[in-house]
Order: sequence, then structure tokens, then C-alpha cells
Amino acid sequence: MPITTIIEPFRIKSVEPIRWTTREQRENLLKAAGYNLFLLAAKDVLIDLLTDSGTGAMSTEQWAGVMRGDESYAGSPSFTRFRDSVQEIFGYRHVIPTHQGRAAERILFSVMCKKGDVVPNNTHFDTTRANVEFVGAEAMDLPCAEAKNPADQHPFKGNMDVAALEQTITRVGRERIPLVMLTVTNNSGGGQPVSMANARAVSELCHKHGIPLYFDACRFAENAYFIKLREPGYSDKTPKQIAQEMFKLGDGCTMSAKKDGMANIGGFLCTNDDALAQQEKNLLILTEGYPTYGGLAGRDLEAVGIGIQEALNEDYLRYRIASTAYLGRKISEQGVPIIQPPGGHAIYIDARAFLPHVPQSQFPGVALANELYLEGGIRSVEIGTLMFDQAARMDLVRLAIPRRVYTQSHIDYVVEVILEVWQRRKQIKGLNLISGAPFLRHFSARLAPAD
Ligand SMILES: *Cc1c(COP(=O)(O)O)cnc(C)c1O
Repeated sequence: MPITTIIEPFRIKSVEPIRWTTREQRENLLKAAGYNLFLLAAKDVLIDLLTDSGTGAMSTEQWAGVMRGDESYAGSPSFTRFRDSVQEIFGYRHVIPTHQGRAAERILFSVMCKKGDVVPNNTHFDTTRANVEFVGAEAMDLPCAEAKNPADQHPFKGNMDVAALEQTITRVGRERIPLVMLTVTNNSGGGQPVSMANARAVSELCHKHGIPLYFDACRFAENAYFIKLREPGYSDKTPKQIAQEMFKLGDGCTMSAKKDGMANIGGFLCTNDDALAQQEKNLLILTEGYPTYGGLAGRDLEAVGIGIQEALNEDYLRYRIASTAYLGRKISEQGVPIIQPPGGHAIYIDARAFLPHVPQSQFPGVALANELYLEGGIRSVEIGTLMFDQAARMDLVRLAIPRRVYTQSHIDYVVEVILEVWQRRKQIKGLNLISGAPFLRHFSARLAPAD
């Protein structure tokens, strides 16, 4: 019999206690937080699956890098090591450090876009969309058709609709499209990967029209591993070779090192365009910092430079993808409706299908997320009507898995809690909104149980 038990490809050197609470305590804490998990204190959460951004555990090598960090204002050797590491994987001529992904986005779009422009993407992440719109351009999502059906098992649901991109270029004209972006993996689309074939088709189309292609590379390592597993011709390549091949198709990238950078803060912007890089560095100096640190400490640059390499480690990726898939499989086998197939960094539960008796106006996603907290101290996040109001196409509960933080037994515990809540789903009630800010209301809204 082949051995199938998933084990963590690391051992634990430093531990951080997590705190048990009683159900009664959680009921009181949730009430005090206005039934909004964002307003809970993190110490009152047992398993925190709110986000995989900046919540990962660093390795011994990264911590060694932190100690090696050189804090010279200009020309730090930490920057040289960071740049060399980024260039080895991404291959772009200019590497500009930023404090996180959105700073790279702001600089890129400020320099490349103007009012009336259109930026096509497979699916914009929220900060990416906001930064495109901030300069007066239109952020256009062009996901493939399969992405719109949660039950569809297509292996590359992160793909862009290439025919729709071609029509868009014809309709709006090349002059109004300063760049095209591909988000790998497609975060807002469920952490679904983009295939090499799709990236190549998008690249060829862009370059035929003289339009630069940029990658939103936050989860590039997870995307590379999905290609290795699922795309013909890639099973013998290493994740690094796959990532290198993909980035060759583009002209630059933005990156949040809080994801596959395996760091708690950081990001970068890359480009092959010398003139653009100069403009970007000028803007960087204005708001982020000198180009050899870009708003980061030297020690952060070390952690990121080492982290992007570790994210491509095959033992790590095998465990990472298997562990997320295991969570998805264990709950969907029992009937829990999730977005299929499981993505790289998170599982998304379809709360409208889970709680069909709770109307959309009573926030089924929030009701389910709150119930997971009450049952087992798990914090997840609603992506639905509270977050997007009437624009919400679905009501989802996202369980995002921090990198290298929780063990397989934590995952088994999460499965058990979800299945317990699934058993008594008919008793779960919706919520009414009591107060909410006009923008990004999910961060601060207060609610109360309906009835
Ligand atoms: C997180 C994320 C960003 C923004 O990065 P921050 O570091 O949070 O600013 C951009 N795009 C995608 C796809 C992301 O997941």
C-alpha cells in the first residue's frame, strides 16, 4: 500500500500557544464584536483562517537572514541578495522593492495608466482594481467561462478568456490598453490556477498588438505546482523551471511577498522597460523609499529573497496543495457545497447552498462564518453580501490557510467543526445589519441575530 498520510515537510522549533475558550465565552465575545469576526481580538481565536496574507511562519533560514540583514540606507548587500533571488526566478531587468503588493500596483498604474484607459485581467484582486480605478482607468475582468460555475471541475479555472481579450482589444483599441494583467493564481476566482498554454496565448495576443503583459504574481509558486500536476508536458519540470518559463512570457510583474514570498511583509515591482523603471523609481523615492530598500528593512529583504525560493520547494508545495485539497475533499464528501476544485491557498464554502433558508438580505455567509467560530473558535471570512452589498454574485465563506502555520491535526479539527455545523445547519439563523460604513463596510459593520 502506498503511504498517503500528509505530513508537514518541516519540524517545529518554536511554538506559539493558541487559546481555548468555552462556547459560552465565544457567545459573549461574538456579541461584543457585533457579530463581526473582524472585530474579534486575535487572542480569542483558536484557528485563524481569516487570510493567508502575511500570516505564514518563517523558516530557520529566513530568521538567519533576518539577523544577516544589513540596514545601510543605500547599496545594502541585503538588497543585492534580494534582487539576485528575484531575478533568478522572475528574470526581469529591474527589481523594485515595495512595502507590500498594493504599493507596487499603485506605482505601476500611476506610471502606465491614465483616465479612459482599460486594464484587462483574468480577475482583479480588490486592491488591484482599486488602484486601476484610482487613476481613472477601467479594471476589466475577463475570466474563462468555466470560472463562473462553482461546481465545474476544470483544472485551470483561473484562465483568461482569450477570445474576449481579443474582442476587447478590437473594440476599445490598442492605444487605450496600456497593459494586460494575469493574476496567478486567480485569488478572487477561488485561488484557481492559470495554465501555461493560457498564459502563452495571452502573451502572444498582447505582443501581436504591442501591449505589455504583467503578472500579478502573488501565488506564483502554487500556480507553478498546479501546472506540474495538471498540464501535459510539465510533470518532469521543477516548479522553479515552470515559474521561469511563465515569467518569460511577460514584461514585468507586481508581487505581494505576504503570499508566496513566505514573509510577513514586503512586495516588489519588476519590469524590463528601462524608461518605465526610471519613472517608477522616481515615484518610489517620493512615497516608499530609496530604490535599494523601498519601504522595507534590510532584514525584510533577506526574508523575502529566501522566502520566494522556499515557496518553490517541491516537498513544501506537495504538502501545501495536498493539505488544502484534503480539507476540501473531507467536507465535500459529506455534502458541504464548496467551489470546485479546491484552490491553492483556500477553500470556499457556498453559504447560500449551505443555508438555503437564510435569505441573502440576512447574510448567509456571515451567519455560517459566525457559526464556525461559535462551534470551534475558527475564524474565516465572508466574501458576499456584507462585503459587496447588492453586487455580490455569491455568498461564500473563505477558509484561507496560512503557510506552514497549522498542522494536519489542526486541519482535521477544522473538518470536524465544519461537519458538526453542517449537521445542524437547519437551526442556523441569519443576521440583520445594525450599522455599517459606506465603503468597505465588512471591516467595521455591526450586526444582530434575526428574530
Ligand atoms: C494580496 C494580493 C494583492 C495585494 O497585496 P498586498 O500585499 O496585500 O498589498 C494583490 N493581488 C493579489 C492577487 C493578492 O492576493
